[in-house]
Amino acid sequence: MGICSVCNKYLGLLSREFNCCICGRVVCRECRTKIPNDEVMELLLQVHHVLDRASSWDGSFSVCSNCIGEFGKRYSKMKDGLSDTSSVKIYTINYQGKIPKGTYRIKIESDWFRDRNEALVKLKAMATYLDYRQIVEVRFDKDTGSEPSENGKGTHYYTIWQASGYAVK
Ligand SMILES: [Zn+2]
Ligand SMILES: [Zn+2]
Repeated sequence: MGICSVCNKYLGLLSREFNCCICGRVVCRECRTKIPNDEVMELLLQVHHVLDRASSWDGSFSVCSNCIGEFGKRYSKMKDGLSDTSSVKIYTINYQGKIPKGTYRIKIESDWFRDRNEALVKLKAMATYLDYRQIVEVRFDKDTGSEPSENGKGTHYYTIWQASGYAVK
């Protein structure tokens, strides 16, 4: 139970409350906009999880009416980042030099994908969104996913990939 941070309405036992995925504050049904769960939204939430901004995220994609403008900006920026990641430079873990010790860096990591390159594209889009143009110590982690075989007998195993690294200016 709480109070809507936009209209100050008291949220009683029966009213649902939502957390804004930008500011994290509690809002009522009238003051939130529900956002469809798409590729951009998934990435936005991953980024904000890394940045610890959406720690109160409850699984529903909501934006409060104070943040809807800011959300629109971030959304289109992320969309641009996904369609053009060519400007982000990648340095593997073996790369020595150039980036001075103590340079500010943000740890970013993609979700798990069957396609290794897709994981890298997502990682680059995250960096673009954060206005970083380089990712250092890029590494790929490998795991095994599984699904029932097509013939219904047994299990089909496949490799999944996660890309991670540190975004630096
Ligand atoms: Zn409200
Ligand atoms: Zn908000």
